[in-house]
Amino acid sequence: MASDMKGPLRPTLYRFKLGAFEMMNVLDSLAVRGGLADVHGGGAAPGEVAELAKAHNIDPDRFEHPFVPVVVNTGKQVVLFDTGNGSLARDNEALKGRVPDGHLVERLAQAGYKPDDIDVICITHCHPDHIGGNMSAGKEVFPKARYVVAAAEFDYWKKNEGISDARKPTQMQFTKLMAPLADKTTFIKSGDEVVPGIRAVDASGHSAGLTAFHVESAGKSLLIWADTCLHYVCAPSHPEWTIGFDDDQQKAVATRKRILAMTSAEKMMVTGFHMPFPSIGWIEKAGNAYRWVPATYQMNI
Ligand SMILES: [Zn+2]
Repeated sequence: MASDMKGPLRPTLYRFKLGAFEMMNVLDSLAVRGGLADVHGGGAAPGEVAELAKAHNIDPDRFEHPFVPVVVNTGKQVVLFDTGNGSLARDNEALKGRVPDGHLVERLAQAGYKPDDIDVICITHCHPDHIGGNMSAGKEVFPKARYVVAAAEFDYWKKNEGISDARKPTQMQFTKLMAPLADKTTFIKSGDEVVPGIRAVDASGHSAGLTAFHVESAGKSLLIWADTCLHYVCAPSHPEWTIGFDDDQQKAVATRKRILAMTSAEKMMVTGFHMPFPSIGWIEKAGNAYRWVPATYQMNI
């Protein structure tokens, strides 16, 4: 018997154990964009990017760009990493239709968390898709949480000097969504411990103080690498490609190479904000570069 089409259905939450911690990746939102070569191709010939896409069975032009905050429940505290797009599109006329609505709060609710359950929010960096869910219509979304951000990141946007025209709207969003939270924010540097088991790792380049976080519990560990790599094929295959979204492009390349080398050498599990959901995998050496190996059932057994 014929039945009507039900439309796409896809996972938006993935929860697993990491030692004694419980972790959860949340698909806040996703965008489908055109221009894989322009955005992620680093100035390589479009034909080269198309070949790379073909070799990985992905569309040579359109790409999916997910936004994936992470929750770590240490048993003592619930720590959220980044807040996604939130109500950016609803609160800013200029962003309507340009950024997707964030679904973090409703998906946290599906997973059993209320906004007041979040104790600590680590902001990896202050680009709008990472702080968009801090406030909605001028009100704090997570009023009980304290914030953690790299001093270098906060100071860069606060100072507001030498910011490119392209990043002026980012600075404006920082003023609205992050600066008002300064009183409840702890400013950190690389190596600092956020809570027991979670440590900051310098990943600057994509932004002035981009911070990755190393999470370790009972002999298991994982790196939340945030925006170290922005596309799961292009960035590991060609870490040397410079990307327009990286605020300091040369430094971002050096950081990408350092973190890819470290995660592959140490066989370190990784989660990345813009990696395909559930955004967990490993980095493997492949020729002169690397490849992203998505997790399968490793965390389920
Ligand atoms: Zn991002």
